Amino acid sequence: MVVAERYGEGHRILLTGGAGFVGSHLADALIARGARVVVIDNFLTGSKDNVAHLREHPRFTLIEADVTEPLPAHEALAARFDAIMHFASPASPTDFASLPVEILRVGSVATLQLLERAVADGARFIQASTSEAYGDPLVHPQPETYWGNVNPIGIRSVYDEAKRFSEAAVMGYHRGRGADVGIVRIFNTYGERMRPDDGRAIPTFISQALRGEPITVHGTGTQTRSITYVSDLVRGILLLLDSTDTGPVNCGTEHEMTMLELAESIVRLSDSTSRVALVARTADDPERRRPDLTKARELLGYEPVVGPEEGLARTIAYFRGR
Ligand code: NAD
Repeated sequence: MVVAERYGEGHRILLTGGAGFVGSHLADALIARGARVVVIDNFLTGSKDNVAHLREHPRFTLIEADVTEPLPAHEALAARFDAIMHFASPASPTDFASLPVEILRVGSVATLQLLERAVADGARFIQASTSEAYGDPLVHPQPETYWGNVNPIGIRSVYDEAKRFSEAAVMGYHRGRGADVGIVRIFNTYGERMRPDDGRAIPTFISQALRGEPITVHGTGTQTRSITYVSDLVRGILLLLDSTDTGPVNCGTEHEMTMLELAESIVRLSDSTSRVALVARTADDPERRRPDLTKARELLGYEPVVGPEEGLARTIAYFRGR
């Protein structure tokens, strides 16, 4: 399946969360395609620094605003958008504890408001969902047809359920209001512009390795994740944008590794003297995670190309430079 590039030159794209890790890379890719990109971000977990290089670009606008509030009066928001991409949301496990209400609101109130705007504009709406929608999965690897295993009142539920609500809202607006929508279920993604202190495993391990501190692996370290380098994710998201499919579609890699293997790779690739220290496991932490990519391949022709060695080496170089 080859998906033709539909969104690029001459198109106006509204991107929420565009000053975050994934959003800023998406903004770069959309600008490179010739699109006009309007980012709304309140810098809750992102930073102006992530898009500082785009500040003077004639096709880029950054608006500081909270997307759970009505959109502000701003000339860049007046004209219709061709696509709206909702990527705003804190996404790290530490955020689940410190920003529960913010996460619930950005996944519910903001999603509904942005869907209304998408219907009014006749814009394609892309929702950033997550592998967390599968919770602690009882099916492995996870196909999109699996409904998940989520504890609705657990510590992670504010994030998991907000994203599940977003997915329901997106499909509700699609069926009830004719919205043109696409849902991407993103698996653990890493790369440049992650915050070193954001609580996710890869930036934490790299920061610890570069400081020569113990690498704090949760539990026994046998739990697995499939890690995706950000350029592979961005390509998958753009394929979904260009398609006419609703999804949901998984985006990630099938290369599954244990947390111990991940920690050891990072120590080796960063020439660190750090040793692994096992610490208490957080509640409801999923045991295994790996996307079934059949649908992404068949629907979008998606194929990840950056392996963990290469992606981790680039990310380590970025953190070292900071
Ligand atoms: P991030 O925290 O770096 O980016 C999120 C951005 O959203 C930040 O810039 C933040 O300031 C902004 N934001 C949050 N609430 C906002 C609000 N109310 N108004 C305006 N802006 C707001 O996280 P990320 O890893 O880049 O994640 C981006 C999206 O991808 C999120 O929706 C996340 O749930 C999803 N996702 C990411 C991963 C991953 O591995 N990185 C995995 C699954 C899903």
